[in-house]
Amino acid sequence: MPETRNIDVLLVEDDPADAGLVRHALRTLGSRFALTHRASLDDALAWLADHGCDVVLLDLSLPDSSGFDTIRRMREAFPAMPLVVLTGHDDEDFAIEAMAAGTQDYLFKGATDGPVLQRAIRYAIARKQLEEKLRHSEQRLLSIVTLAQDAILSVDARHRIVLFNPAAERMFGYAEADVLGRPLDMLIPPRLAAAHRAHVADFVIEGPSSRSMADRNEVVGLARDGREFPVEISISKDLQPDGMLLTAVIRDITERKRFENELRHLATTDPLTGLANRRQFLAAAERELVRVRRYDRPATVLMFDIDHFKRINDTHGHAAGDEALRHVAAVCRDLLRETDIVGRLGGEEFGILLPETDVPSAREAAERLRLALARAEIPRPDGGTLRLTASIGIAACMPGDAGIEQALSRADDALYHAKANGRNRVEVKAPELSAAS
Ligand code: GH3
Ligand code: MG
Ligand code: MG
Repeated sequence: MPETRNIDVLLVEDDPADAGLVRHALRTLGSRFALTHRASLDDALAWLADHGCDVVLLDLSLPDSSGFDTIRRMREAFPAMPLVVLTGHDDEDFAIEAMAAGTQDYLFKGATDGPVLQRAIRYAIARKQLEEKLRHSEQRLLSIVTLAQDAILSVDARHRIVLFNPAAERMFGYAEADVLGRPLDMLIPPRLAAAHRAHVADFVIEGPSSRSMADRNEVVGLARDGREFPVEISISKDLQPDGMLLTAVIRDITERKRFENELRHLATTDPLTGLANRRQFLAAAERELVRVRRYDRPATVLMFDIDHFKRINDTHGHAAGDEALRHVAAVCRDLLRETDIVGRLGGEEFGILLPETDVPSAREAAERLRLALARAEIPRPDGGTLRLTASIGIAACMPGDAGIEQALSRADDALYHAKANGRNRVEVKAPELSAAS
């Protein structure tokens, strides 16, 4: 790209003869280079503060400054200024050290004709531009890494931690200095470390350069205090000169998991009794029924309803009625097996699925439940107690049933009979009757 703009050059040189040589060399290049000359560092800094320029040609031995100090002071005042050092002696080592100290190029005094000077000036400007670009991009990256709410960490090819941002410090409870150079395993529960290593090894040889670890069923972080927490991780890989660099962005999802569990609980549980709600009961019973059918095992459903529950509310108040419902749920939980499924189907109506249970056994269980309910002295909020009874209908799950609803509807028939026949009793819906109806 042709340079059309004039280039402003500041020459800082206290030796009039050396300054004259540079002025002469620049003049041979025509009017594209505008030269300003100052003979001390202080004068140069003052002029730069007012005017600025594109490049500084800098003699290091000045009346008010010498050697690398001259570079340092210039750099501090104007960090982005391209600098070309003028060295008096034919000393390559010195020039190279000057480059390391932050200059972009060097020239030997006396060996500086127009084309050499022009090349050095253009090179210094281009190089400084690149350096600044790189610096900005590194700063941008650093501020992203530093400010990120997610933990960001990198490991080298040997799985040693080489980057650990402030969010990672907060998440894992380690300071950066505690983890740099140490194995990644320290952040993973030991029982999961081997699986994690295998997963990472797969990722290193796979095609895509980044991916989420959400496909793994358990991704867990280990904090310094031994606390484990669920995390969501995205990893990326980057082949560097000294091997594969892996970077992970890690989010602590403890809160989200807790919220999900809470939502699931709310969606599946009856808040008053803690039993499965109607929907959850039907779904769980349906799953159980599928299993029972596959293995050709018996199963029975019970449906029961508290007798004259309205009277309990009317006599003792709604709070006492609620307490009674909780008590009924507790009796069910105490009496039934772990594998039985109990749910509150509606107001004072409950459903039970008994897997691996034929009708005679179900009748025994139902009788036990009926008696336990009838015997219970249920505490009332006002200090007294109350008693209640329940009517229970039983139906066997039939191989031909389309679903749990069908068996439940037969149990509901039996419950209706139990109510009609005087309450506080158990009735069974006979299979042959259901076939006829
Ligand atoms: P039956 O023996 O025929 O079943 O008579 P019942 O009074 O139990 O039946 P009914 O259906 O007439 O009344 C049920 C009562 O249950 C009416 C309703 O107010 C009460 N109920 C339903 N849900 C709740 C609840 O969550 N808490 C309380 N305290 N009462 C409830
Ligand atoms: Mg000098
Ligand atoms: Mg009732």
